[in-house]
Amino acid sequence: MKNLSIDSNYMCDVMERMLETPSPSGMTDMIVGLVCEELEKFGINFELTRRGAIRADLEGGLHSPDRAIIGHLDTLGAMVKGYRANGRLEVVPIGTWSARFAEGARCTIYADGGARYRGSILPLKASGHTFNEEIDTQPASWSNLELRIDARTGSEAETRALGIHVGDTISIDPETEFSDTGFVTSRHLDDKAGVASMLAAAKAVTQSEVTLPIDCHLLFTISEEVGVGSSHVLHGDVAEMVSIDNGTVAPGQYTSEYGVTVAMQDSSGPFDWHLTRSLLGLCEQHDIEHARDVFRYYRSDAAAALEAGNDIRTALLCFGLDASHGYERVHLSSLEALSRLLVLYMQSKPLFRRDREALGPLDDLPTGEPN
Ligand SMILES: [Zn+2]
Repeated sequence: MKNLSIDSNYMCDVMERMLETPSPSGMTDMIVGLVCEELEKFGINFELTRRGAIRADLEGGLHSPDRAIIGHLDTLGAMVKGYRANGRLEVVPIGTWSARFAEGARCTIYADGGARYRGSILPLKASGHTFNEEIDTQPASWSNLELRIDARTGSEAETRALGIHVGDTISIDPETEFSDTGFVTSRHLDDKAGVASMLAAAKAVTQSEVTLPIDCHLLFTISEEVGVGSSHVLHGDVAEMVSIDNGTVAPGQYTSEYGVTVAMQDSSGPFDWHLTRSLLGLCEQHDIEHARDVFRYYRSDAAAALEAGNDIRTALLCFGLDASHGYERVHLSSLEALSRLLVLYMQSKPLFRRDREALGPLDDLPTGEPN
């Protein structure tokens, strides 16, 4: 098993391009196109599902059982819910995020026929000179927000005349900044930072001489933020699946801000005993800074796969993300640690050879440490 060096410049470059490409759940075609082009650059074969989730193939020595690494391309966003009498728009969130973090956001409205409008999401009481201290007492809630369109409109009729419809998708500006201290601050690092570390790992493997023991699929889903996730991109041969998503750097959490975090449990229950411990073992053997954590309000692609009836071993590997679903920040060393671990995981032996079959006798039940 080889430790391969990770091309950090590439990882930052592709992350920046992904962050610049709006992809709220439901409007993911552009980002899917971008990721497909990256895969083509590395000569990686892939297929798309009807709606555009990507299943890429890194070929291994054995074609069964397979493993999969999965990340999501969709992000949070918003949608036009209705018109206000003053011509501004009522909005609802796409995905789960607090109105508190929408206040002041710059955004783009995608109207029919390719028309685009820019605007700002503001609290209803936005003017300090009019509302004074009332601004501080208005609760943060989506019903207390409105979208101010950067166009001349003062009524519902004028806004309708712009061609803006109920149900138009709104993307939120990421406000990305790469600092020379290694931090990246941006919205939507969940999960574009994770996908960047997957692509950096794929680049390292395809540009090296290493051979993988079994097929490894890279799956890129498009509706994680709304809970549908991976269910449709798996096929029967996948026996183990590792989700890549954010770990939360927050009080009471043990997520490593500068290393990789192995999630032991999320809202959907414990992750696979053997797969989880084998990943921890790889971190220990190869000196990768790591931590374990348990998440309370968290549901990853893995849960969707299991709920869809797939009998597979799942794990969740996280990069450390501060202020997730808000003003997010990640450190590059965490993404590099994650990439290094993925490169090792791809080269590792299948957890259990018996996992090639969906059903087997009692003798096959794993008892000790993974082989
Ligand atoms: Zn996520």
